[in-house]
Amino acid sequence: RERWLSKLTSGLRKTGTSISAVFVGNQIDEQLYEDLESALLMADTGVKATEYLIKEIRRRVKDSGVTHPVAVRNILIESLTQLLKPLEKALVIGEFQPTVIMVAGVNGAGKTTTIGKLTRHLANSGASVLLAAADTFRAAAREQLSIWADRNTVDIISQEGGDPAAVSYDAVTAGKARGRDVVLVDTAGRLPTQLHLMEELKKIKRVVQKADATAPHEVLLVIDGNTGQNALAQVKSFDEALSLTGLIVTKLDGTAKGGVLAAIALWSRERAASNPKLGTVPVYFIGVGEKLEDLETFNAREFSQALLA
Ligand code: GDP
Repeated sequence: RERWLSKLTSGLRKTGTSISAVFVGNQIDEQLYEDLESALLMADTGVKATEYLIKEIRRRVKDSGVTHPVAVRNILIESLTQLLKPLEKALVIGEFQPTVIMVAGVNGAGKTTTIGKLTRHLANSGASVLLAAADTFRAAAREQLSIWADRNTVDIISQEGGDPAAVSYDAVTAGKARGRDVVLVDTAGRLPTQLHLMEELKKIKRVVQKADATAPHEVLLVIDGNTGQNALAQVKSFDEALSLTGLIVTKLDGTAKGGVLAAIALWSRERAASNPKLGTVPVYFIGVGEKLEDLETFNAREFSQALLA
């Protein structure tokens, strides 16, 4: 845990240095708040979450009567931790057999790598996994997924040029027949022209549900933490189409845009407030490197501290 934390810290340092620089003076004045606002925006925290944090910090500074900028830094860590806390949640499997997990994400977000890591993580916890290569459009995607399957010695349902929904259906059926604990469905991140990605993904979801009325049990979106506000835009549009149940944020080992987690937390909170049935969208895992073991559970306090380390 120490090791990944240091990777996260050194990755986020790019974000953090500009934020930490705000607190080097010796008084809390309007300039400090202005600088903090700019630094948060630079870190891709976004207008809304930045406004929220500044307001929260002003209130806490006033209430506590602190006078030194270092105290403001600590207040920021506390406010951020509190905002991010609802994103913490463990991915639970075992309630269904198999637990069907559909994984979406635009090309390049790190989806395939993440599925490999997730397979390893699940296997380490004793679960048997079946992979479904539902990105049937890209031969490279299928090949890459089967490499991960080999590395993890799990089976894979794959069909060259087949229908993504049919492959998913077969995988869920096979998962049941073989008594697997988890079926991980890898979906396309981009389609050949004419076809609409969201329609394709919705179809996969519908057909999976036909194979098992309770499935999919999780609909996860993999986002690249290095794309900042663009990642938030992806979360919103995938959620609208698929009703996401969780996120995995990759590449936090080398980003200057770690503030986007705060923007996601605020969005997630507003989503839960507007529709309590849907609840918040947690961050089940974060990616902190390219290796199989570089997947970690999200911890709000550790993240906030790393961001300002
Ligand atoms: P996909 O197109 O979404 O399936 O993306 P890939 O899984 O092929 O990943 C795209 C690139 O991002 C590859 O070079 C991966 O090694 C890299 N990558 C994925 N996750 C991480 C991560 O957490 N940290 C770093 N540094 N690189 C990552």
